[in-house]
Amino acid sequence: MSETAPVIMWFRRDFRLADNPALAAALKGGGPVICLVIRDARIDALGAAPAFRYEAAVAKFAETLEALGQKLILRSGPSREVLLDLARETGAGAVHWNRLYDGLSREIDEDVKSSLKASGITAESHGGHLLFEPWSVQTGSGGFYRVYSPFWRAVKDLEVAPAIAAPAAIAAPEAFPASEALADWALGAAMNRGAEVLAPHMCVGEEAAAARLDAFIAAKADGYKARRDYPAEPATSGLSENLAYGEIAPHRIWRAGQRAQASGAKGAEHFLKELVWREFAYHLIYHTPHIETESWRPEWASFPWRDDSPQVLAWKQGRTGVPFVDAAMRQLYVSGTMHNRARMIVASYLTKHMGVHWRVGQKWFEECLIDWDPASNAMGWQWVAGSGPDAAPYFRVFNPQTQQEKFDADGAYVRRWLAEASRNPGQEALAFFEAVPRSWGLSPGQPYPAKPVVDLARGRARALEAYEQHKQQQ
Ligand code: FAD
Repeated sequence: MSETAPVIMWFRRDFRLADNPALAAALKGGGPVICLVIRDARIDALGAAPAFRYEAAVAKFAETLEALGQKLILRSGPSREVLLDLARETGAGAVHWNRLYDGLSREIDEDVKSSLKASGITAESHGGHLLFEPWSVQTGSGGFYRVYSPFWRAVKDLEVAPAIAAPAAIAAPEAFPASEALADWALGAAMNRGAEVLAPHMCVGEEAAAARLDAFIAAKADGYKARRDYPAEPATSGLSENLAYGEIAPHRIWRAGQRAQASGAKGAEHFLKELVWREFAYHLIYHTPHIETESWRPEWASFPWRDDSPQVLAWKQGRTGVPFVDAAMRQLYVSGTMHNRARMIVASYLTKHMGVHWRVGQKWFEECLIDWDPASNAMGWQWVAGSGPDAAPYFRVFNPQTQQEKFDADGAYVRRWLAEASRNPGQEALAFFEAVPRSWGLSPGQPYPAKPVVDLARGRARALEAYEQHKQQQ
């Protein structure tokens, strides 16, 4: 292989220059680099909002590369074929990428790696998506962790990878290979009317993510533990959106959190703990990939959840008649995100009060969240449903009314997102009606449900009864 053979840097969910181990490895030889994104089965499987957000991440990163005299090459097709073809076409001798850990990604990546190697091309995967590779954290007996607290204790004092500065230059090939146009991928097509409503809520790119982190550390880390559960307050970092597309490395967040902790920020340790929940989710999806598709605890496979119900549409539309649930579901549709406490409450209402399978909710979140993450979403749903590892027990049913009294006592969150809760609804609450499909036939003037579609006390009693019966049958 000649010394000037290009190297392919395959970007997937790592749209950043700094703290990018695969990019650093691609640059090591000093030769030209071909920066590539592939629209493969993983991209085609994305829900409407994540696909739209992914498109924005790619567009922004293409601009960043252009400013360096580089170009982001876009190709569609099965990753193996695209990479082999591009390597043949350009004479590239090596491909680098940062690992992903969900079942589909591992299947694709293993196939890619062995095919490239069989063709004499160096194929190297790197750890850039997580602080701790899932196989590197082991219990005393050499297994994986099923419970969060000991996982936290096992990782909290570990060293994480040192910072990698953003490269000042990335050598370009003599001629850039042909690229498809991002617009032709039409990744935002499924958003329909929602795109314009959602776009202002997004915070896209490496620079924006770094600024978000700095602002959080400066103003909110101290009060994080005390305020993080109040959905009306901007007390959390919002970084899940950027982590989902790798616009910031968890390492950078970890280091910033540790510095804040060392300088006495009271909430900093709790913030680090939350970041480790993300690690735990990936630990689980790596060791037990079925967490994405099946109840993690086998005894829950036969639980009589319904797969659908007419009430599910009311849940999706934020018209259950339970204001906290409905405000949260509207926030999801309008902003592509939802406060963590609200996620737990709507998930509990769906799986317990309504008795609907957690997979139905998981799928809807996958369609609507701009921070959609296969590991955290699956773990979150199974945690609430009671079927997951280290889950909330099934008999702990969130009461949305008392939750509102506790965490949204003045109703600010509910009024912000639920137009019907306010005499003069604000722009964000009204935006919901601009975003929803016309076929839903919703308008702000419509009367709000006079009572909940599932009565809180009755729904709770029914859920507990189903649980008792199921337990006896085991
Ligand atoms: P912060 O409070 O600022 O926390 C910092 C970071 O820690 C977050 O960015 C996130 O990476 C991580 N984190 C915090 N809480 C959790 C948690 N409970 N589980 C895993 N990681 C966490 N998170 C996603 O990123 N994508 C999802 O698709 C997703 N789906 C969820 C579904 C359900 C049913 C539930 C209950 C939770 C889900 N979460 C998901 C976790 C959590 O709600 C979000 O990570 C959090 O709300 C993001 O807001 P933030 O960035 O301001 O978090």
